[in-house]
Order: sequence, then structure tokens, then C-alpha cells
Amino acid sequence: MNKYKIELLNKLSNILSGKMSPVRTMPAVEKLFNTYLETEKVTFVIWDNNNMRLKDFVKNTEIGNTEGSSNQINYAYTNFAVNKGEKFYFNESEFKRNIDSSDISGITELIGEKNYIIYPLISNGEVFGLINFITTKKDFDKKYFEIINISSMLISGAIINYILNEQMEISLNFYKAMKDIAKIIESQYELSYIIPLIGEMIDRFISSHLIYIFIYKNNNFELIWPNACKDERIHKQLQKLTKNSEYILSKDNKIGIFPIENEESLLGAIVAYSNIEKLSEKNIDYLLQLTRQSGLTIQRANSYAEVLKYATLDALTGLNNRRQFEIRLKQEVANSKRNKISLCCMMLDVDYFKKVNDTYGHAAGDCVLKKVSDIIKSEIREYDIACRYGGEEFFIILPQTNIKEASFVAQRLRKVIEKTKINIEEANVNNTSHINITVSIGVCAYNESMEPYELAQKADKALYKAKASGRNRVIIV
Ligand code: GH3
Ligand code: MG
Ligand code: MG
Repeated sequence: MNKYKIELLNKLSNILSGKMSPVRTMPAVEKLFNTYLETEKVTFVIWDNNNMRLKDFVKNTEIGNTEGSSNQINYAYTNFAVNKGEKFYFNESEFKRNIDSSDISGITELIGEKNYIIYPLISNGEVFGLINFITTKKDFDKKYFEIINISSMLISGAIINYILNEQMEISLNFYKAMKDIAKIIESQYELSYIIPLIGEMIDRFISSHLIYIFIYKNNNFELIWPNACKDERIHKQLQKLTKNSEYILSKDNKIGIFPIENEESLLGAIVAYSNIEKLSEKNIDYLLQLTRQSGLTIQRANSYAEVLKYATLDALTGLNNRRQFEIRLKQEVANSKRNKISLCCMMLDVDYFKKVNDTYGHAAGDCVLKKVSDIIKSEIREYDIACRYGGEEFFIILPQTNIKEASFVAQRLRKVIEKTKINIEEANVNNTSHINITVSIGVCAYNESMEPYELAQKADKALYKAKASGRNRVIIV
């Protein structure tokens, strides 16, 4: 073997054993062939089992007609699959991969302006793709094909390795998504909070498709995540769903509808949609399992919410819950009316809380909610009533308090929160152990003509003004 050929194999093994992604590895390999084997262009083609077609391994695109050789490629691949890769193609003719000298004269007769030399990619005796070498070279010998043959075998190994690694990573991500969906329930039970989280997790995992989550209520599918679903076909397909129906695939396999159900009823549906990619068998399998897990989480959230109907405290923060807030607000308003004593109400909302969740994760968001609640508890009097109204919104009822005192409390609360470094180590975020946040607060006083709900509404309006005028402030109305 010539020295330069050994050099080629050496360099090839070095490139293939490196840690670069295929997008960088394969062009480097192509360049090597261009230098050592006088090729003009080399393409790596693999069989895409999901879409049942050949695709460019590097560009991840369908083999088009632009190369002028797509027919040849398809033809060669079909024949390779049948003859188990024992052959290679020189232009349109077939030769044994273990070429002997007598074949070379046959090849010599076929030499054209541009020559297409196509070798199979093989793993475990199965052909899974091919390499197309295009060259304008005019003279060929046995060694030339031998070197291409050895190179193709090396490349087969590297590509299969890459594909297996990618599959392993997908499996790991799948188990992580399953675990995360099961874990949401540890601290939350409101569907309006849980479903977007499930949606984000599945969406991240099934990147080829958009994910929608619908809840089935009063014989109707209501979209919960994301905000809009314009595709009419999805709504049509949803109508076909009944209790105990299997998942539904659109005719073109691009839309999949997966029912969420418990033993008694249909709870909703998870929909995967793309106008380009078909759903692969593997993705369908993943979606079925993720839907089942989501169904369990939703069902548990529902039963948890049922139990909590009788609870008075919020599970995450230990403050009064929303139901308790409504009861206490009525009591305090009645008391204030009867005894003609002052009463104030404030509503507090964490500024840009969504950003905290998005940047540091929901566990960090939960740390913030707990800390804000602790500060509220320590900054108010014993007979003030603090409640977590929902999400990152809090109400504080201040009996026997005039508006001046209330606004003083609100300002103090705002300042303490602003200064506090909130520990989020529990959330395991790399590089960040503490964060700062701010809150906006709306404050108002009760007057005798008001209904309880009007007092809460007025605080909400003041809060809205605080947000609109820049956040991290107290507005009194
Ligand atoms: P603004 O300054 O206008 O209040 O912006 P914001 O981002 O705080 O407001 P928005 O209402 O857009 O976001 C509230 C977020 O709170 C969205 C929701 O995912 C999150 N959230 C609601 N409940 C919980 C919870 O219990 N835990 C955590 N971590 N996040 C929650
Ligand atoms: Mg907020
Ligand atoms: Mg809010």
C-alpha cells in the first residue's frame, strides 16, 4: 500500500475517533478524500426509518435531485439492501466489493466525465446507508477501490456509534421527562399550573412536533396549553375521541391525538402536530407513555385538590389558602361594619416571577414563594391575615388598621423583600445560590358601602397600577 494511502487511513481514524459532531466530522472526512483520492464531492447517506426515505446524514435532509445522482443513489441503496452490501457501484454498474484486478478493465470502460462511486454503509451485516464519492478522475486501480472499501468500513462504525449515542441520549431524556412529570405533584395541585409544566416537558422532548394539551369538560375539549391552536384539523380529529378510544393518527401520520383518561372517564388529550414530519413509531410509543404519566399526575392533582377543599392552609407556603381568604375576608368586613373599625387590604404580586421560573427552574420559583411567605409572616402582626391567593399572588387582610398604617407596612414589606438574598440552593441551579426579587403591592381601605369582594377588587386595581407604573412599588387607592 502506498505511503499516502496509509497516511489517509491514519488521518481518517483520527478524525473519526475525535469528539466532533457529524456536522463537523463529515466535512473534514470529505476534505480528506478530496485531497487523497481526488474526489470532488462525497456525500454520506443514511436510511431514515421514521420517514422511510434516504437522507443526507450531515444536513439531515431528504436526498434531492440537485446532486444529479439521486436516482442512482436510490437504485444503489435498494440493491445493496438485497445483496447485503457485498457489492459497490461504479456509475451504474455493480462490482464486488472485494475487487480483483480483472474487474478494473470493466471499470475502465465505464469512465465518464463525472464518476459516481457508491459504497454501502454496513453494521452487523445490515446495510443502513451509503457513501457517494463523485470524482472526475480518469485512471483507477485496484488499490484505489481497496482504500475506499476500508474507509467505508471505518466510517460505517463511526456513524453507527453516533446514531446509537443519540438514541441513548433520547432514552435518558425520556426517563427524565417521565420522572419530572411524576414529580410536579409533590408541591402543586392546580391544573392551570401543572399542565403548562407538562406541556413544556413533553415539548422539549418531542422536538419535531408541536405539543398541545386539551382538557375535556362539558363534552368539549378546552385548550389549556399553549395559548392558541389554529389548526382546524386538530379540532376535527379531537371530535373522534371517545372514552376508551385508542390514540388517533391523521392519515399523513403528522398529527397524533393521545387520550388522557382515568378508569372512569376521558380527562383530555395530548396532541402532537407537525406539518413537515411524520410521527415515528418510537415517538408514538414515547407519547403514549408520557400521556399515561401525565394522566396519573392530573388525576392525583384532582384528588389532592378534592382533599384540600377541606384544608385551610396552602401546602407550599403554609399561609391561608384562597378558600380561607374568602371566608376570612367576609368575617373581617362584617366585623368592621358592625364595630365601625378600620380595615385595610393589600394585594402583593412577585415581579417578573415567570422569569425566575424560566431562568432558574420551578424549584427555584418555589423557594422564592416560600421565602416571600416567611417574610410576610414575620413582618405582619399576629392578627393580620396573610393568604396565598394563587401562583405568586398574596392578599393580606389588616383588621383595625388605617390606610396610613397599612401603607407603612406595605412599604416595609416591599423593602425587606427587595433586600433579601433568597437562597435557591435547594433547587440545584449551577452557579447561582442566591437571587434577589422585588414585589409590587396594592393597598386600599374598607368603607362601609363596600361588599367583601369589592375590597379585594380595589386592592387588585391598586396592584395593577403599581405594575403599570414600573413595579417594585406600593400604590394606595
Ligand atoms: P409581573 O411582573 O407582571 O407580575 O410578571 P410575572 O412574570 O410575575 O407574571 P405572570 O403572571 O406572567 O407569571 C406568573 C408565573 O407564576 C407563571 C406561573 O408559571 C408561575 N407560577 C404560578 N404558580 C406557581 C408555583 O406554585 N410555583 C412556581 N414556581 N411558579 C408558579
Ligand atoms: Mg407576578
Ligand atoms: Mg401574577
